[in-house]
Amino acid sequence: MDPEIPLAWPQFEEAEAEALSRVLHSHRWSVGGALLAFESELAALAGRQHGVGVNSGTSALQIALQALDVQPGDEVILPAYTFVGPVNAVLAAGATPVLADVDPLTLNLDPAAVEALIGPRTRVLMPVHLFGRPAAMSELMAIANQHSLRVVEDACESVGATTQGQPVGGIGDIGCYAFYPNKPIAVGEGGMLVLNDEALALRCRQLRNQGFDPQSGAYLEDRHGHSARLSEWHAAIGSVQLARLPTVLRQRADLAEGYRQRLQRDRRIELPAPASDDQQIAWFTYPIRLVASLASRRDWLLTELRAAGIGCNTYFTPVHRLPYHRGRYRCGRLTVSDDIGSRCLALPLHHALDDAALDRICEALIGLLDRG
Ligand SMILES: *Cc1c(COP(=O)(O)O)cnc(C)c1O
Repeated sequence: MDPEIPLAWPQFEEAEAEALSRVLHSHRWSVGGALLAFESELAALAGRQHGVGVNSGTSALQIALQALDVQPGDEVILPAYTFVGPVNAVLAAGATPVLADVDPLTLNLDPAAVEALIGPRTRVLMPVHLFGRPAAMSELMAIANQHSLRVVEDACESVGATTQGQPVGGIGDIGCYAFYPNKPIAVGEGGMLVLNDEALALRCRQLRNQGFDPQSGAYLEDRHGHSARLSEWHAAIGSVQLARLPTVLRQRADLAEGYRQRLQRDRRIELPAPASDDQQIAWFTYPIRLVASLASRRDWLLTELRAAGIGCNTYFTPVHRLPYHRGRYRCGRLTVSDDIGSRCLALPLHHALDDAALDRICEALIGLLDRG
């Protein structure tokens, strides 16, 4: 049988091993120079003053909400069609998720759906830049300004993407990134908040470290903190990967184009929309959809592709369809989320793929559709 093609495959070179060795020999394995360096480098990429490294993307989102002083009963509006991490972050922060529908073309928050859900307890908008595609930030920021809401960007899948010349994560009050092994900056586990406000950055650093910031010596007075630091190992790998990010994103864009050329003539498949003129997508997996009449074949296709050694997944089952979360939150009509969630399929996208691998994936996909 042909070798397995994983859905995601983290990359490393000798530079990662050297960076790890430097941390090892420094005997400084937590909150040292590697963390400070990675924080300032990623903050710079986002056009922000401050970066605060934490142990996951979900922790970053939770800490962002707590730093903004979101209280129990306060509502955070976010998309129903997303990875569940941001919803779990809202719950961990003690706030209440409210689920809005997404735009069928971009799969990102539909600003009109957001506006219709704003109520007296709404405090924060949390757009998710899904699959590396920037959300409609100018519309969402206008809505937030009009209703005095804060904006926390979930840019966990989208580091390096831009919209109207601005990096995602650098537009709202706080931007959050993640470094799980399937992300373009992959360190194992990790996340980072980026922001401009100095007092808010101090609060984030206190929240990640038991309420205490060793840099300033300042303790939080009004709430307890967490143990959510990003280790020196993770930060050291992060810096190496960040330096490589432009190359990685170019490779991924080429692969996305390779998929488009191979699949665009097949009427049974809907491809992700190309980037609009004022956007750069930081491609994250290659998310296709089957046409609606083939939705019932999606799970069979997933099983068969996996049996053929091709990694794929149903990114994403909408949050309101997940066991614990079902029926718990205020929401609008979620027809687009339900529709897309029933026929989406994420295909592999990473540096280890070449033309032969794309041929194999696309031929397997088309062959199965011919059969079934
Ligand atoms: C990966 C991801 C996160 C964060 O995941 P962690 O595993 O907590 O690092 C958050 N939101 C989205 C949309 C993601 O894809």
